[in-house]
Amino acid sequence: MDKFTPTAVLAVFIGCATSLAGCGRDDNNEPASAPATTDTTEVVELETIPAPEPGEPFEVRADRFADVEVLRYQVPGFAEMPLPQKKLAYFLAQAALAGWDIIWDQNYEHNLRVRRTLAAVINSYGGDRGSDDYLALLEYAKRVWFANGIHHHYSSLKMQPGFDQAAFEAMVRESDPALLPLENGGDVDALLELLGPVLFDPTVAPIKVNLDSGQDLLLSSATNYYRGVSQAEAEAFYAARIDQDDPRPISWGLNSQLAKIDGKLVERVWKIGGMYSPALEQVVYWLERALEVAENEAQQAWLEALIAYYRSGDLKQYDKYNIAWVKDTDSRVDSVNGFTEVYGDPLGYRGAWEAMVSIRDLEASKRISALAENAQWFEDNSPLREQDKKPSVVGISAKVITIVTEGGDAAPLTPIGVNLPNANWIRKEHGSKSVTLGNIIESSEQSSAESGLHDEFMLTEAEKDRYHRYGTLSYFLDVDLHEVIGHASGQIAPGVGTPKETLKNYASALEETRADLVALYYMMDPKMVELGLMPSLEVGMTTYDRNIRNGLMIQLQRLKPGENLQQAHMRNRQLIAGWAYEKGNADNVIEKVTEDGKTYFVIRDYDALRQLFGQLLREVQRIKSEGDYEAGKALVETYGVQVDQALHQEVLERVKPLDIAPYKGFIQAELVPVEDSGEILDVVVEYPIDFARQMLSYEENFSFLPVSN
Ligand SMILES: [Zn+2]
Repeated sequence: MDKFTPTAVLAVFIGCATSLAGCGRDDNNEPASAPATTDTTEVVELETIPAPEPGEPFEVRADRFADVEVLRYQVPGFAEMPLPQKKLAYFLAQAALAGWDIIWDQNYEHNLRVRRTLAAVINSYGGDRGSDDYLALLEYAKRVWFANGIHHHYSSLKMQPGFDQAAFEAMVRESDPALLPLENGGDVDALLELLGPVLFDPTVAPIKVNLDSGQDLLLSSATNYYRGVSQAEAEAFYAARIDQDDPRPISWGLNSQLAKIDGKLVERVWKIGGMYSPALEQVVYWLERALEVAENEAQQAWLEALIAYYRSGDLKQYDKYNIAWVKDTDSRVDSVNGFTEVYGDPLGYRGAWEAMVSIRDLEASKRISALAENAQWFEDNSPLREQDKKPSVVGISAKVITIVTEGGDAAPLTPIGVNLPNANWIRKEHGSKSVTLGNIIESSEQSSAESGLHDEFMLTEAEKDRYHRYGTLSYFLDVDLHEVIGHASGQIAPGVGTPKETLKNYASALEETRADLVALYYMMDPKMVELGLMPSLEVGMTTYDRNIRNGLMIQLQRLKPGENLQQAHMRNRQLIAGWAYEKGNADNVIEKVTEDGKTYFVIRDYDALRQLFGQLLREVQRIKSEGDYEAGKALVETYGVQVDQALHQEVLERVKPLDIAPYKGFIQAELVPVEDSGEILDVVVEYPIDFARQMLSYEENFSFLPVSN
């Protein structure tokens, strides 16, 4: 995944974290009792906003609290799908939401208890709802909802409530006890006694995932992946099981809690009949409904394998599911559903439950195939030296999806790119799916534009006008060119090693520079208009404006004072913009203007800038083709590492008053079936207005686990 905006701080999942094993025996299904469906549950009425008419603006910004902004995304293309695909998406979306409780319990053993208590207060508190304490509780609840627990989603530290223990106890006592998670005949006193230290004692469960070696990583982490097990015990447990020579290793521990019970280590497996069974029964119920309307045999195959895996808990069955899933490449509707990423486990064994339902983005697919079909034209017409051009080039097929619903660990904070499965041997033998989440990125882009961040760094009205008209399109085309044409272009001279060998630690910054320059060079080519990809070259000018102001200024907001550039993408962006600024200085190609004490970089000659980009591209390709380490190093070190400290300080000061949230997450679109006597006649997409109300509706409809598991 490349080229993400500096302001969109969304997690990116890149695979290769766990290993799994393959081939194998039949699963041993065990029958599960038929779960209650959610059909009969009373639904909290959600206020929704209608889908906008084409060309109408869509309200993406939904909520802002603490360090978080909550956005909405649209689901273009859904309404036009045939009914069976809509039903399929709806059933998969229900399966994606049905496992909501699992990630909460995985993150920390008291999370569900806290969440239900907060929901009870918000639903029934009889006191003053305008009081500072109540408003602080509401904000705390939002933070907890956003993080799927009481620990910060990013720092993993326990979040401090903005109200004290006495205020909390008073609010709980003024709420409906019937809604509180009172267990085993316990009363409100017992609940408050338990929750007091959980919420207010900074020494209790201070961090979810402790990666600070020197301490016992498990005993010092609050995560619920282990119970009473030390790091040494867990490591010994798996050392005895893992076969280092297995070319198709099983992903040991991926779907269980490791617990010490009566002095013995036991894996409590997450499956039907095992731990988390009530939620998984619901997930499977909806997957079975999905199976009835599967689009084709390939999709049927992975749905069946996934269901068998949830029933058996057998990790070899999990591999079968993954292998079947990567083979399903033609379906319009797709889903990820399972225990997947292992970042939440200090030892990297256990998978956080997550789900994602998507449809293929047909618009993006058209864009990308138009580029891929012309890959040879782009290669032939590039400014590369003749010997560096590929005689026969194939564009890289990038895939873009439209998210319909996300659940578990993938929400409200979402990745913007996904590359699965994680098992290296499956990727090698069977391939993988790599996708970008188009509608999520679009929404994030729109919120960025509305935040005023870019306006702050644009001097001229023409530039602002272009940005607000073409910002999103120019961004997508820039990314498409980078991925489809950029990385595929050029060839290495015979006898020269791979960039990893020749350019070493500079290889990835230089490769991103190269792919960026290919994109920049073609963004101002009339061919793009001719192919119908952009209405005019103003779209390309928008890309130029953005890359210059971002590379020289905006991206610096992500650094702390005194830091230099480390990350490959940040290095390459400054390298390109800084090099072009310097080389074009004599001809005033990019002018540095100071107005009211503020610095701006204004492009004065777009054609000349394009020629400069072409010149630098030719040189960077030469460096790659010849493996010229010294020249590569000089470029990166001269233009891509050092930060202009005064300019950095200025950027930080200008960004501060904009109050831009470091983290963005999403309200999920809701799929609502239109039914007549139990038959689904249509499924419509609705866009909820309020984050808190969506969370409360989940509490009511998708809360299947007890508070202790
Ligand atoms: Zn790239």
